[in-house]
Amino acid sequence: MSTLKPIQLLVACCCCLAFFSLQTAAQNTGAATNQPIVIRNVQLITMDESNSIIPNASVLIVNHRIVAINDSIPKNATIIDGKGKWLIPGLIDMHVHTVTDTGPFGPKYPSQGATLFFDLQDQMLPYIANGVTTIFELSARAEHFGQRNEIGKGAVIGPRMALAAMIDGGEGQGRRVNTPEDGRQAVRSAKAEGYEFIKVYAYLNPSTYYAIIEESKKQGLKVIGHIPDSFKGKLKEAFVPGFGMVAHAEELSNYAKDYSSAEATAMAALLKANGTWFSPTLITMEAIAAQVRSLEPLKALPSLAYVHPLLQSKWLTANKYNKMSSPENIAHFEQYAVFNLELVKACDAAGVPIVAGTDAGTSGVIAGFSLPDELGLLVKAGLSPQAALASATRLPAQWLGMDKQVGSIEQGKLADLILLDENPLIDIQNTRKIAGVMVNGNWVAKKTIQTMLADLAIRNNASKDQFDWKTFTSPKK
Ligand SMILES: [Zn+2]
Repeated sequence: MSTLKPIQLLVACCCCLAFFSLQTAAQNTGAATNQPIVIRNVQLITMDESNSIIPNASVLIVNHRIVAINDSIPKNATIIDGKGKWLIPGLIDMHVHTVTDTGPFGPKYPSQGATLFFDLQDQMLPYIANGVTTIFELSARAEHFGQRNEIGKGAVIGPRMALAAMIDGGEGQGRRVNTPEDGRQAVRSAKAEGYEFIKVYAYLNPSTYYAIIEESKKQGLKVIGHIPDSFKGKLKEAFVPGFGMVAHAEELSNYAKDYSSAEATAMAALLKANGTWFSPTLITMEAIAAQVRSLEPLKALPSLAYVHPLLQSKWLTANKYNKMSSPENIAHFEQYAVFNLELVKACDAAGVPIVAGTDAGTSGVIAGFSLPDELGLLVKAGLSPQAALASATRLPAQWLGMDKQVGSIEQGKLADLILLDENPLIDIQNTRKIAGVMVNGNWVAKKTIQTMLADLAIRNNASKDQFDWKTFTSPKK
């Protein structure tokens, strides 16, 4: 069971509204917090267990929560007209990496009055702009608790954050452990520090990997991750009780011999038998395969404007995938991308729960904007739009243990909602046609989103020339 705290507990009093970092945001989200809001006459796609759709519904939101559906409307309520529109739950991205101000940059300069190196609102805006109201941070560090607190108290408009501590071995990343004893201690430490999940990574040896999973179970922490390289030739042995989710399809593709659908079916059977869920992150491999070929499509991506200039620079001038460009590698990654779709098909057929994750932060995978891409790829792999939507709402909420709070539109749940101009069950790409987003009961209208995005794009592009490398500061807002 997760010990994830609902964000509502973290929300402070209205005086915090004074700290909204953007005026437009304060005007359009904060002020309405205690004021009843009704979204009226909307086609309601509940995404509850019964998959019910309620026509011409009115949804009453008070103080962060959905308090009634199709009940009487309070006289003082703010009305949002949903006529001809569709309401879905806020989306959950099950695999993200958010940059933090660490190392020599962040902590020193803000105290001297400088702008933070990576502005938190700028980082979170692309999620909210795309209706992503919950993210699962898969290499969480201490700074992410700080980020979560800023969002929780209303200083920044952003998604809820679930945090996984990364544990690796060898010369790998995160907490590095190479013995079962150290592995168990790393889990206990992570729990004591407040992490809710454990991510296992590529360079763990088998005995340490087993110990981490066993200890996580004991401590009540779910485990997601890569399949360590040390299982080469013995994939089956990585599937032990408590290995809760495979974090990328390529964790399985790495073990393919002939890339056949029979092989995909056999792999899906391993997940099914072990009760392991699947987060294929198809968009990651699509993006990598594209970058191995050429950087031109990435350069032309409109959403690149919403990526911090330092990351843009890294992706375009020091792109590790493009550096390995060769006919063999192009063919190799393309084969992976195709086989990944086979794996989704096989897992779906086997009844393995599939959740949508993007690996946002990986080069070419843009926060927020990449989630509709992932949903499109899931549909391409054979999922219905309904199933693709479930993969980013009800199902991830269940795995994260947040399903009493988010993941569907039901009375009593927190008000994370997306108002769409078109029906996403007909075309999943309609999830991009956003009329407004409600996050934690705060309404962010399309116009506000567009204004904030335009402002971010201007500053990001200006920063390319004006970034001060001595003080690590961007131009002031
Ligand atoms: Zn990742």
